[in-house]
Amino acid sequence: LCKHMAAADAVIPPDFELPVDAFDIPHCYEGDLGAVIVPEGMIKDRVRRLAKDIHAKIGDNELSLLCVLKGSYKFFTALVDELAYARSSCTQPMTVDFIRCQSYEDTQSTGMIQIIGLSNLQELKGKNVLIVEDIVDSGQTLARLLHTLEELGVSTKTWTTTLLSKNVPRKVDVKEDFVAFRIPDKFIVGYGLDYNQKFRDLNHICITSEGPSFKQTE
Ligand code: 5GP
Repeated sequence: LCKHMAAADAVIPPDFELPVDAFDIPHCYEGDLGAVIVPEGMIKDRVRRLAKDIHAKIGDNELSLLCVLKGSYKFFTALVDELAYARSSCTQPMTVDFIRCQSYEDTQSTGMIQIIGLSNLQELKGKNVLIVEDIVDSGQTLARLLHTLEELGVSTKTWTTTLLSKNVPRKVDVKEDFVAFRIPDKFIVGYGLDYNQKFRDLNHICITSEGPSFKQTE
């Protein structure tokens, strides 16, 4: 990537809301959604550029991508596809791994989490690792994951990328290297993100309709 192509933020303004009826939305979700705030096509375009930015920063080195399930599964596959194009001339391979994070009872005191599903922690040792997250809100989840990987001595070089970064004060400072969209403080569903396991299959990033029943889940 040329030097003059400086990376800029993609910020979704607080009042940017597209009507649900302007899009093809599964019938079962229609009444539950308030608005579309990032349509699927826009995600695709943004992820293409993000992949170029990631490649420009990390270079041709071997790269291990870590998908934090379940929320980032869609972002992850889109990003891997675009990175494959961006890295087509690389001689070093890109590998993928999938994890889920589970908090210990005493997460507050240790700041560690249990990482489930990683086939072999040692495989990541000394590698360039790119953690792929769905959303950063308070920052705690990503901070704990980074801390845990560090404690386990997994990698020397770790980057993070997140589909969404909420414009809220962080409870902990966390490294957000590549952010696809900065969004206002609203509860989001779709494109992998759920409410009680629903809406993950929705193609667009949406806000739920008004109502106290919708609140943050894990
Ligand atoms: P944090 O630890 O940064 O406060 O929150 C990160 C996690 O909270 C995310 O991985 C996600 O599971 C959940 N989360 C935070 N905000 C939202 C949201 O607006 N919608 C959904 N579906 N999950 C969220």
